[in-house]
Amino acid sequence: MAHDKVTAEYGSLVFSDADMRQRLPKPTYKELSRVIRENKPIDLDIANEVAHAMKEWALEKGATHFTHWFQPLNGITSEKHDSFITIQPDDGSVLMAFSGKELVQGEPDASSFPNGGLRATFEARGYTVWDPMSPAFIKDEVLCIPTAFISYTGEALDKKTPLLRSEVALERQAKRVLALFGIEPMRVITNVGPEQEYFLIKEEDFEARADLRLTGRTLFGAEPSKGQELEEHYFGAIRPSVNAFMKELDDELWKLAIPAKTKHNEVAPCQHELAPIYERGSLAIDDNLLTMEKLKLLATNYGLACLQHERPFEYVNGSGKHDNWSMSADGRNLLEPGPHPEDNLLFLVFLAFLVAAVDEHADLMRASVASAGNDHRLGANEAPPAIVSVFLGDALTPVVEALIHKEHAEAHEDEIMDLGVPALPDILRDNTDRNRTSPFAFTGNKFEFRMCGSQQNLSDPNTVLNTAVAEQCERFCDYVAARSDEDFYVVALRFVRHTFRDHQRILFDGNGYADEWTIEAERRGLLNLKTTPDALPALIKPENIALFERYGVLNEAEVHARYVAKAEQYAKLLNIEANVMVHMARHEYLPAIISYSGDIATAVATKAELGIDARAEKALVRTLTEGANEVFDLANALDSKNDEARGIADVGERDEFYRDEVIPAMEALRAAVDGMETVCSKECWPVPSYNDMLFYV
Ligand code: ADP
Ligand code: MG
Repeated sequence: MAHDKVTAEYGSLVFSDADMRQRLPKPTYKELSRVIRENKPIDLDIANEVAHAMKEWALEKGATHFTHWFQPLNGITSEKHDSFITIQPDDGSVLMAFSGKELVQGEPDASSFPNGGLRATFEARGYTVWDPMSPAFIKDEVLCIPTAFISYTGEALDKKTPLLRSEVALERQAKRVLALFGIEPMRVITNVGPEQEYFLIKEEDFEARADLRLTGRTLFGAEPSKGQELEEHYFGAIRPSVNAFMKELDDELWKLAIPAKTKHNEVAPCQHELAPIYERGSLAIDDNLLTMEKLKLLATNYGLACLQHERPFEYVNGSGKHDNWSMSADGRNLLEPGPHPEDNLLFLVFLAFLVAAVDEHADLMRASVASAGNDHRLGANEAPPAIVSVFLGDALTPVVEALIHKEHAEAHEDEIMDLGVPALPDILRDNTDRNRTSPFAFTGNKFEFRMCGSQQNLSDPNTVLNTAVAEQCERFCDYVAARSDEDFYVVALRFVRHTFRDHQRILFDGNGYADEWTIEAERRGLLNLKTTPDALPALIKPENIALFERYGVLNEAEVHARYVAKAEQYAKLLNIEANVMVHMARHEYLPAIISYSGDIATAVATKAELGIDARAEKALVRTLTEGANEVFDLANALDSKNDEARGIADVGERDEFYRDEVIPAMEALRAAVDGMETVCSKECWPVPSYNDMLFYV
């Protein structure tokens, strides 16, 4: 798009605030803005007017349908399209109608979404409720209305509702903290910038592999002759088909007011990254989900397939999604160190909140990113380890150390400078982090949570983070209230100092990939929850349920439902992967190996008749026969292990069985098949190889 076109079309498919202002009667617009700002329920009269304006706008843009757009517990977005048409009873003519009621509430009849046991089937109905904070948009001629999805008994059935609740809790508690500093903002919000990694391969290769089509990752594939060791792909020139794709992608995202900003090649061959400019938390997550959808759909226009799995290929890096997070009060970033010492104290207080929140709830942070896909990444020496720690960087670490050790500073009471609040260096932003091994790193004026998986909905980690920080805010207010006879700044500084002192164990600036860190972390008492079955039980620990309940984010039943849904998801995904492996082994690989070895055996026999010593053929046919036997046996073994797993009733036990028994059986089968790939001819091999898929021109 030419630049003038970009500015003209940016957000053209979004029913924006400006559209509302223009199309709604002034009092209605004012009332709606107030309701949105104050997070209050919307009156039906207002909703009717908004619905009318929204429909008129959508019809002008060519939309014929509308849908409530929501995020059930599987994390992906769902929609069911309804047309605007109604038939006039008197003359049978068609009218395009859309009421306030249809805008505000929908009933997707979604009894087959994962609900973790929250809804018995006899009352399987759930309903969707308009989230006026996220603007409606048009996608493929459908007006999409962002909604929350809840059950008739009011329980959250989606990822968004708890996220919104956590944002409310954080805002409330943060405002209390700010009030103590004499700051009274209208809004405190979180800012989120998700960096999305993905792979692009040729669509024909994708279609030729059942594993990619059915599971999103390769379950087989011998090591390619070269990997990413030359680092030629990272930031390298983008190939033309990919470039054309990225251009169209930007255009489409911009029309949806998704501020796509940077795009570049990543470390692994065929791997790329897209980062938008950060937005308000839940909006950024909506936009990330839309981005993921557009990535997949638009790739096919260029003969490409977009892979968003955390581990599409062995031997090269997997994909993550860095969750850049900060909070701001009416636009003022609370994690911005700022030039003035008195602001530094405010900054240090919030910094302390983050450090304490992550230390105290490292188990929840870990659980929030746990999935079968992400288990391949965390701790695989390319992504952060499964151990949660916090990186503060060279500029901030000495400041924190000084705070911890400078006890004498507490004596002074009159001047902030004298309190020993160190003035922070201005260059903080530029020289903070180049340590890519840390799971939770301070990067200048935000934190970056790097354990999230590429295909993950970021609602879960953000819900945990927001809630955990809200708790710290409240604790600070209590701490100050209990010392109301002392000077506030002295008390606040003491809080900061004690918080850093008490949570030193979580601070780690070293190499997170090193084996020594695993040992050191254990010595410090930090958790190392390596797999999803290790991590998920944290969700239902009584103290963690209490945390969510205390801040109105999730009640016990809702937490439990999320645990069950995630635990089931793990087993379901592995069941599918095991099924696909057995299927491919029996229907594709074995026939190929057997037929190839048959050809060679015939060659051996023919040559023997001619009196020629076929040494190579004989050796090969022996290897192939042994390999075929092995693949045959290991496929059977995997099949029966998977059968056994499916029979386990308790979901936690089932997950552990998948981890301990089924995954090793999958790995053994893969090793046998991959071994055969290296000795079979290219012609006989039934699927494209890593060499072909990753290094195409
Ligand atoms: P990188 O991490 O690759 O160096 P940046 O740090 O510039 O890249 O940006 C990564 C993402 O972080 C972008 O989406 C950016 O908009 C977002 N970001 C920048 N500042 C903030 C902030 N204060 N709060 C939240 N996200 C931010
Ligand atoms: Mg980053």
